[in-house]
Amino acid sequence: MLKLKKTAALLLAAVMAATMCSCNVDENEVQQQITGGYHFHWMDSNLFENIEQMGKQNIKDDFAAAVTYDWAKEQVEDYTYSISSFGEAMKKVVQNKRAILDDKSIQNKNVELVRKADGLFNDWEYRNKMGVEPLKKYLGYIDDIKTLDDVSAYMLDNDKNPFAITFVKMDYSNNEALENYRAMMISKPDLLLKYADEYVNISEDGYKKKDKIEKQLKYLFERCGYSKKDTDNVIKGCYKTESQLIHLDYTEIPDYKTVHPRSEILSLAGSYPFEAQLKHYGITTCDHFMGELSYLDKLETLYTQNNVEDMKAYFKARLAIESIRYLDKEAYDFYMDTNVDRSNQFAQRIDRDPDLTFFSMLNSTALTAAVDQMYLDYYFDQKTYDECKMFVKLIKEKYQIMISENKNLSDASKKAVREKLDKMGENIMKPSNEADFTGVDFRSKEEGGSFLEALCAVSKAEYEHIGVMVEKQYARDFWDIYDGTLSTTVTNAAYYSRQNAIYIRAGILVDPMYSPDAPIEQKLGSVVAVLGHEISHAFDSYNIYFDADGKKIDIVTKEELKKWDDVEDRIGNHFSGYSPFDGCDSYSGGSLISGEVIADAEGVKAALMIAKDYDNFDYDTFFRAYARFWRFIVTKESQTNQIKDDPHPLEFIRVNYTLIQFDEFYETYGIKPGDGMYMDPAERILIW
Ligand SMILES: [Zn+2]
Repeated sequence: MLKLKKTAALLLAAVMAATMCSCNVDENEVQQQITGGYHFHWMDSNLFENIEQMGKQNIKDDFAAAVTYDWAKEQVEDYTYSISSFGEAMKKVVQNKRAILDDKSIQNKNVELVRKADGLFNDWEYRNKMGVEPLKKYLGYIDDIKTLDDVSAYMLDNDKNPFAITFVKMDYSNNEALENYRAMMISKPDLLLKYADEYVNISEDGYKKKDKIEKQLKYLFERCGYSKKDTDNVIKGCYKTESQLIHLDYTEIPDYKTVHPRSEILSLAGSYPFEAQLKHYGITTCDHFMGELSYLDKLETLYTQNNVEDMKAYFKARLAIESIRYLDKEAYDFYMDTNVDRSNQFAQRIDRDPDLTFFSMLNSTALTAAVDQMYLDYYFDQKTYDECKMFVKLIKEKYQIMISENKNLSDASKKAVREKLDKMGENIMKPSNEADFTGVDFRSKEEGGSFLEALCAVSKAEYEHIGVMVEKQYARDFWDIYDGTLSTTVTNAAYYSRQNAIYIRAGILVDPMYSPDAPIEQKLGSVVAVLGHEISHAFDSYNIYFDADGKKIDIVTKEELKKWDDVEDRIGNHFSGYSPFDGCDSYSGGSLISGEVIADAEGVKAALMIAKDYDNFDYDTFFRAYARFWRFIVTKESQTNQIKDDPHPLEFIRVNYTLIQFDEFYETYGIKPGDGMYMDPAERILIW
């Protein structure tokens, strides 16, 4: 992947909030740190605080800083949201979506639903008028529950249960054991504290989360007219239920490899009404189940009349926590104040940009498929698609050459690597299926609807879609438009080893990441390097352990794998102990980042091989395009988190460290030993 989902959201749209520091920095204070056989000596040019101080750098010493300086300085002066090319692309995508909604001549089911959701979410006057009434209405349905049969009926009543909460969560999974079929994956429902461990031995983060949740619940229930005692009972009952669910199978490790037939699953479920749940969502013939079976087996011991009140508390707490963002402004602000870290740059931006808030929020609902479908209907461009397809073909051809010329691999290993390349799925812009919301409807604001009502309709559709998918034959690289984690309108690209497929989303194929009329040098330096990056992931130090069909098998020999280990060690030596600014954590080694570092370098290598086929190729434009693609300005907080958990190095490193691997770069700018952008050939990290 180019970015992990969460970090992407945090970093790509980051905004500057800190004040500018105008003091000058002594050249000698620029961080010089010795790491292995190579010295990192670039100032952190992604850091907002550094831009003014560092001034314009020499291209031979710090390429990323030199090339992006003028742009960066402008961003600091104008204080805009657009502080990365990624951010600009995201903004463009959101504008495109808004244009569709605003064009009233466009009428179809997907647009109509998204438009209604937009009206319900973005009209604060309407939301404020409704206050917490929508929540009260759904809490009332839970109050009506008296018996265990009522619980069973409530869980499957999609008009009363907006988030379709049950005690058995379902999803479809691609099963390793039975390649031709999908399996139904069953698991525990989501938990307020997210992790089971928090219910056994609560962590510091767990305490913080618990505190936030309790604040929100107390706030919401008070507004709904609950007494303090009643609220306390809801919180207590919910935690009791969650804790009991956790302890049913706490010490067991679920088996995600063996499939079990329907009859066995229904017998495990016993008196828990799982059969009714399957039928309700149209899952009538699926005979392959896996997941938390021991949990399912014991669930009936808790599913008793004695526990009805605690189960009701669980439903109420989950409903309230899930609803808080969709009620009035006061509730929304309370949610933001308690739940969102205000120093988090993405949160600040999302708070200011209603369209970004709205479309990001839809991304966690089934309506994400409606949004993506309407986007593709109006912005899918066959020429862009064909060009990307052509670039993928060229990259694969260059890889075939790299594989043939490789001296490290035996013929048998080369064959396996080649097969992986040949079989690699190419998912570009368009998912494999189309969104179909026929039969799904909810009331608009004009009709007196609420966002919770809309969620009732779409969560039902979401589960019905799981029912459809689980009955279908498994296809390794099937790209499901309903899968929000792979939304095509997100500005990103990915490679998945289990699918052995790349995913180049429509959201990354917009200006400034890609423009159809740009010169070839710019295309090769941006989108082609990214396509190359994703394809290269198939052979990085992590994914080399998966074969052409996505099975975890060594496709090269242990002896040959030494090459990957050596490169990972070298990267580890270069990065280890490097801290980009004072007070920041340092990189701990190569294991977290080497996959991304290798993919960056190999992606540029493939693009440079394609460049060789062009006469009078302008390498300067190519390298500048690469730096422009990765230009970023972020804050210290973002970078600290990035170093800790993100497998991608900071962006200025992604530019500089990648480019110093290539002779073409040295030749273009006349870089010599002693220059900041020089790396001894013995230290370079290319595998192919
Ligand atoms: Zn990647």
